[in-house]
Amino acid sequence: MNKHDNFRFLKTPRRDPAKTEAPIRIFRWDEIYGHYEKKPAQGQAGRCLDCGNPYCEWQCPVHNHIPQWLRLLEEDRLFEAAELSHKTNSLPEICGRICPQDRLCEGACTLNDGFGAVTIGSLEKYITEEALKKGWRPSLEGVRPTGKKVAIVGAGPAGLGCADTLVRRGVEAVVYDRYPEVGGLLTYGIPPFKLEKSVVLRRRRLLEEMGVRFSLGVEIGTDLPFERLLDNYDAVFLGMGAYTYVRGGFPGEERNGVHHALPYLIGNLKQVTEVAAGDAPYIDLKGLRVAVLGGGDTAMDCVRTAVRQGAARVTCAYRRDRDNMPGSRRETRNAEEEGVKFLWQRQPLEIVGNGRVEGVRLAETRLAPPDGRARAAPELVPDSEHILSADAVIVAFGFRPSPMPWFARHSIALDEQGRVRAGAVPGAKYRTGNPKVFAGGDMVRGADLVVTAVFDGREAAAEIAADLGV
Ligand code: FAD
Ligand code: SF4
Repeated sequence: MNKHDNFRFLKTPRRDPAKTEAPIRIFRWDEIYGHYEKKPAQGQAGRCLDCGNPYCEWQCPVHNHIPQWLRLLEEDRLFEAAELSHKTNSLPEICGRICPQDRLCEGACTLNDGFGAVTIGSLEKYITEEALKKGWRPSLEGVRPTGKKVAIVGAGPAGLGCADTLVRRGVEAVVYDRYPEVGGLLTYGIPPFKLEKSVVLRRRRLLEEMGVRFSLGVEIGTDLPFERLLDNYDAVFLGMGAYTYVRGGFPGEERNGVHHALPYLIGNLKQVTEVAAGDAPYIDLKGLRVAVLGGGDTAMDCVRTAVRQGAARVTCAYRRDRDNMPGSRRETRNAEEEGVKFLWQRQPLEIVGNGRVEGVRLAETRLAPPDGRARAAPELVPDSEHILSADAVIVAFGFRPSPMPWFARHSIALDEQGRVRAGAVPGAKYRTGNPKVFAGGDMVRGADLVVTAVFDGREAAAEIAADLGV
């Protein structure tokens, strides 16, 4: 066993894995971050102070045992690190790639105060990648079949987290999805320069080896009635995501040349990756002046996709400032490096044009104090209107849940924002109004993060297992 040096961080600076330079990566669709070699990975893991009060763990939504797996990695006990990492996270190699670490685990790292946080996300990815390469597989030792069966609707992070946790408890898990491949937005949303699709497909194979069954290309409520799931399974988990586009509500949104973010991204994914679903057409923005409206992860993915398609100019307009944007700081920096121009504190008022889009009428905003709200509220600055010229506009204001008409028939109640209401019964955080039906992820929280959806799926599975007495 290596001796841990608590002051390693003084000698070893934070070093992220190499990133492809912007002038090269704007012509490529593959992931921009590389992989650590063994020695640098162990050196970076050894920077952990083991500060005794692991804020990183608390700030991580799945409460990963971060200092412990960093220590195992440093001590060259890779398989144990992978096993421990999977005890709390069903998709560690994916969260390691796309969590907004700067506001989660790494933002809370004690070393973030002046020394550079431990590269927790990249090391989490490294552990699973390396362990799988060396032949490690999740251990199902000691798992006994219980004879119980659970149907899961949605093969996104919430559904996959639920399935992973159930099979580890000996419960049969069958995951239904309307798409032909698993992953939800991991596959049909997030671009490959953040997450290559082969990573998601490999996780599918791992889950199948563990006994999870997938029934893909089946839309529940259309191809298969929900009643069939209620009749044939001991419980049902819903992880159906949030797919209703938030509209701007200003004139001109229907003009030719205005596109919604998700169909734009899915159409592009069909063109540049091996996954294909739905009828979203390929929208080619080559040579065009593109305006993207919004400041979340979806907007960042759209600007960077437009850059790679060869747009002549890409501008992102957002109504708050950089500090108050919901998207990941890292991805915003990546977009800036790739040539995207940001117009902060700009509120779109109208998409102008004559038949086709010619620009966006924007007004400047000033930010009122948060006043109990999560983020500062933008107010329009009088006489600040101006036109941003554009040939194409992408509206990326986020998503609301998309409740199904059959929910009401089955006592699955909604809140005023259309989110499934779960947790009305004390001690049953994920149970809906129907005692046999549980729900989590974006359809309950509203559009959020991969890691929070995984957490919900896992916790719901534990609740279901307890309910079934296994
Ligand atoms: P989803 O991933 O949406 O999965 C829901 C699944 O349910 C889908 O596969 C859908 O086909 C299926 N489904 C729905 N209805 C039915 C039905 N009736 N029958 C059968 N199947 C059905 N988060 C991050 O943490 N980091 C990021 O970098 C990031 N980038 C993002 C980029 C984009 C463009 C978008 C849109 C989101 C991004 N997010 C990111 C958010 C993240 O992807 C979501 O929070 C997460 O995927 C939610 O997981 P989920 O399982 O709740 O839903
Ligand atoms: Fe950090 Fe996300 Fe991994 Fe948690 S799951 S340790 S927040 S990268």
